[in-house]
Amino acid sequence: MVNSRFDVELNNIQKKFGSNIVVDNFNLQIEQGECVSFLGPSGCGKTTTLNMIAGFLEPDQGDLLIKGRRMNGVPSNKRELGMVFQTYSLFPHMTIFENVAYGLKLRKTAKAEIAERVKKVLDVVKLPQVGDRYPKQLSGGQRQRIAIARALVTEPSLLLLDEPLSNLDAKLREELRDELKRLQQEIGVTTIFVTHDQEEALYLSNRIVVLDHGKVEQIGTPWDIYNRPASEFVHTFIGKSNRLEVMVNELRGSEIALETAEGVRLEGNARGLSFHVGEPVSAYVRPEKIRLRTADERMSDRVGANEAQGKVKLTSFLGAHTECEVEVGRSDVIVRIPASQEQERFTPGQPVVLSWDSDDVFVFARKESKP
Ligand code: ATP
Repeated sequence: MVNSRFDVELNNIQKKFGSNIVVDNFNLQIEQGECVSFLGPSGCGKTTTLNMIAGFLEPDQGDLLIKGRRMNGVPSNKRELGMVFQTYSLFPHMTIFENVAYGLKLRKTAKAEIAERVKKVLDVVKLPQVGDRYPKQLSGGQRQRIAIARALVTEPSLLLLDEPLSNLDAKLREELRDELKRLQQEIGVTTIFVTHDQEEALYLSNRIVVLDHGKVEQIGTPWDIYNRPASEFVHTFIGKSNRLEVMVNELRGSEIALETAEGVRLEGNARGLSFHVGEPVSAYVRPEKIRLRTADERMSDRVGANEAQGKVKLTSFLGAHTECEVEVGRSDVIVRIPASQEQERFTPGQPVVLSWDSDDVFVFARKESKP
């Protein structure tokens, strides 16, 4: 037994299918009690990585450690895992009690202890009364809670969740998401959560691993991933953002001045990336970071940096906020106005002024302009 402060370690993990590298040079350390999400679009390698941790697939290269023990070649049932998948995967011919007790029976746990632990875990998932029922007598959300109970009953050292909420309707999904967060925090079990839903990842995780085409794009806290994206892919995958095609006008240390073909000027920070004057780049500003005011409120006609004039094209009321589509030259810019503002001022045709802070400008090299 090796002493390690990490519950899970992936060191240079690689997996190929034929000549196709689907997980490349994956490095990650997870601390005890952390909830880490693997987030990325379909086919980015999330499930393949989870399957290697679960022991369903073997990595072609690299070391996989759980609680300091090297797991390469160790069968899945010797890894002390709890798993929940997208489909409920309960045994239909067994009662809920038998389903939850299954893992304990395999471990030859004494009957009285099984009864006690099943009762306790059914309480934890707030379904204490359903032990005698069969899976088909439960709703989708209840069945998924039972799947979670079954995964937790053996007190696993690691909980693996592969899109466990994606078969549920929106409301249940949210409910179970809250529940999972509460459970994970209460029990403190180290958890890996696979999802393609950025909101779910932001909500549930201590840290997020953003993957694209088998490569780790960024590992960070939800705050880091949202506010300090390491790449254009990360910025655009997490939440909505407005993209403006701009040219680099000036560089002053890390400060960068940009301009669109129509003369909208932006100022921001290069955030460690290197650009050159005259380079065509992409600038992004998120809809919720843009302020909107009606044009007649303006004292002067001079439009400064990080300001633009436009005309409201469309407004969509979404309860907590309203989304305005604003025509700025030839571009359409989405602006999110909080419900507390007087939304009725912004109707289609209304001339407006948009403004934003330099901290909210994200600049990335344009793919086609890279050498
Ligand atoms: P999804 O969200 O759609 O499940 P994912 O991010 O989990 O996607 P993976 O299922 O890990 O992605 O798949 C990664 C890549 O590996 C995909 O291109 C997929 O087609 C390929 N792949 C997965 N399993 C196999 C297999 N058994 N044989 C060949 N290719 C595979």
